[in-house]
Parts: sequence; structure tokens; C-alpha cells
Amino acid sequence: MRIKPDYLVVGSGLFGSVVAQNLASQGKQVLVVEKRYHIGGNCFSELDAETGIEYHKYGTHIFHTSNETVWNYIQKFTQFNDYHHQVLTLHKNKIYQLPINLETINSFYNINLKPYEVENFLKKELSKENYINPKNLEEQAISLIGRPLYEAFIKNYTSKQWGKGPTELPASIIRRLPIRYNYSETYFNHARWQGIPLHGFTSLFEKLLSSPNIEVKTNCDYFDLDENLKKLPTIYTGPIDRFFNFKLGHLEWRSIRLEKHVMNYSDFQGTSVINYADNDVTYTRVHEPLHLHPERNYQNKKTTVFYEYSESDQNSPYYPVRDEDNLKILAKYEERAKEQENVIFGGRLGTYAYYDMDLTILKALELVNYIHS
Ligand SMILES: Cc1cc2nc3c(=O)[nH]c(=O)nc-3n(C[C@H](O)[C@H](O)[C@H](O)COP(=O)(O)OP(=O)(O)OC[C@H]3O[C@@H](n4cnc5c(N)ncnc54)[C@H](O)[C@@H]3O)c2cc1C
Repeated sequence: MRIKPDYLVVGSGLFGSVVAQNLASQGKQVLVVEKRYHIGGNCFSELDAETGIEYHKYGTHIFHTSNETVWNYIQKFTQFNDYHHQVLTLHKNKIYQLPINLETINSFYNINLKPYEVENFLKKELSKENYINPKNLEEQAISLIGRPLYEAFIKNYTSKQWGKGPTELPASIIRRLPIRYNYSETYFNHARWQGIPLHGFTSLFEKLLSSPNIEVKTNCDYFDLDENLKKLPTIYTGPIDRFFNFKLGHLEWRSIRLEKHVMNYSDFQGTSVINYADNDVTYTRVHEPLHLHPERNYQNKKTTVFYEYSESDQNSPYYPVRDEDNLKILAKYEERAKEQENVIFGGRLGTYAYYDMDLTILKALELVNYIHS
């Protein structure tokens, strides 16, 4: 080994990489072990050999934040392009804007409301069917947007995503459903900054991990490490239940499968992501990464496209299923985690939480402050 490590970081995803970068900048030697063949965790991007188009291997990632600390930090390692995210959804062979905005409503109901008329219109819709204490996701969504919009845009998409009907899902999954009373098409309405790293996500991770104080070992599973290395102060970003050998139960994850196709068109769908809201189509979304880098001007006769299917593959954890049963199991693991003197659990797998990238960075920076306090 080139370095004499002071710390062991398990996982080279965003959480582990930000922690490693900070520790290294303070003069600590950090060994990062990563069980996949590459760095970057789920943010990893690479060029498609056939089209040269950069794609996100584990699903489209758009960086967005309004947090100044995060923005100031991440800009030290990459510039961002000016990509602005927009999401469209296909229902009954017609395209609509998401989140639901004035165009979605007008187009769906075939009317021409003005912004100041939307509230009353929706009130009338909600008065037809409302639930004061919604018992499940369906009742919750109907109470927020009314049955017709729910049935068109939420019901079947959610069933496909979670593999369960909305009446079997907790109301808490949908706390609010943003509805815009204007024609704004931007997906991250409140983000002050958004974009894709100019040279791709992987190049951002190469920069984060570039310190001579950091040594990265890919294809290296923590559980296969020499016992001496496991005695190092460790930041563990793998699945928390795996750490304890699943002794207290398996935490459930929802997963996705991306099916790659190369299409003989210079542009297949005209935008980076389209949702498929209806049940007759088994995939949930179609991604076309060409559109994530408008500044690159790819000029291909071919384009790379990914069909996304929701699945429950426990070997490929994407979204934690934070229902009552799983949270009970998590609480038990959290108790056990507190007893580990040398190990801190972090990141989405280590805490069984879904965090966007900006929150992941913030949590990693907080952890480094804690380590040094
Ligand atoms: C489909 C999808 C789309 C997303 N889109 C966005 C988006 O548009 N915008 C946004 O802000 N956020 C998005 N996110 C969230 C973003 O992916 C996370 O914020 C971020 O990846 C979390 O980083 P992490 O380091 O916690 O986890 P991960 O990226 O999962 O990294 C954990 C790493 O640990 C490694 N590891 C696990 N176990 C071991 C072991 N035993 N030994 C060694 N290594 C191990 C894993 O291989 C992995 O590389 C999305 C997430 C998903 C699932």
C-alpha cells in the first residue's frame, strides 16, 4: 500500500468521497475501499462506446441545490453546465408537464384557466371527495389534487414504481404534491443552482479523490479486508444491515433496472426524461442522456436511450422502503451501530435514507466537523 492510513472509508460514493477529501485536506491518510469496479457510487457516469454519449449508469442524476455551503464546496471540484431539468409524462398517448402546472391542468381538462382561477377550480374538485385523515397514499393524493389528476398521473405510475397499489402504500410517501399555478416548466423550482458537471460526474469524483493522501482500491469489498485494516477508524457507507450480517433482519429496498438501447436517430425523444404514467407500458421512465449536455453538441446519427423498470432486487438497493416494519428493524440496527466504537455509519446505505446529492454533501461535511470536534 502506498499510504499508511489513519482512516478507512468504505464506499467511494458521494458521501465517502467528500469525507475522504476533507480528511485528506487536513493531512490525514485515507484508504478508500470500493467494491464496484469504479468510483462515484450511484452518481457514476461513463461514455457509451457506441455513441460517445456520456450517461449515468445508475439513473439520471441532476445536481441541484440552494445551499450555499454545498454550492461553494462542490464548485472547487467542478464547473457545471447550464442544463435545467424538466420532466414530461405520457398519459393516454399525450405529453404533459410535471410537476403538475397550469399547462398540465389546462391541457388535461381541456380548459383555459388563468393562474388566479386555479385555486377555486381545484377546491371544487377536492370538494367532490376529500379525506381528513388519509389512510393511504391514494386517499392522500386525492385530498391534494382530486381524483381525475390522481388517476391520470399518480395512480399507475406509483403502482409501477413501488410494485404495490396506492391503497397498500402509506400516506406519508406523498406529503405534498406541488401544483404550479403558472406555466413554469423547471423541475427543481426552488433550486438556486442546478446542472451537470461539465466533464461528467466521474471526473468530479476523480478530483475529489485526487489527493496524494488518498489511496483508492476498487473491486475491494470491506468484508474481505484484512482484520488489521478493519481496526482503523472507519466511515462505513455500505448497507447497515449487511454490516451486522443481517442478524436483526433485512431492510427492504426498491430497485430499478435500466435497459440500454442505441437508436438510429440523432434525437429520440427530445428531452432527457419522460415518465410513463399508464399501466399498459411496463417501464416507468425513458432516459436520453444526450440532452444532459446541450453544450457538447454531440451531432450523432445515433442516440443512447435507457428504459427504466422498477423492481424489488435486494442486491441492488436504490430507494429505502421506509415503512413501519423497516423503520423498526432500522432502529435496532441504529442501537447496534452506536456500540461500534471505531465505525461511523453514513450515506444513504449506511443510514437507510434517501438523500439528494446536496444533502449527502452537507451530511458528509457535518460528519467531518464532528470527527474534528
Ligand atoms: C436512480 C437515482 C437517481 C438519483 N437522481 C438524483 C438526482 O437527480 N439529483 C440528486 O441530487 N440526487 C439524486 N440521487 C441521489 C444520489 O444518488 C445520492 O445522493 C448519492 O449517490 C448518495 O451517495 P452515497 O455515497 O451515500 O451512496 P452511494 O452512491 O450508493 O455510494 C455507496 C458506495 O459504497 C459502496 N459499497 C457498499 N458496500 C460496500 C462494501 N462492503 N465494500 C466496499 N464498498 C461498498 C457501493 O458500491 C457504492 O459505490 C438519485 C438516486 C438514485 C437511486
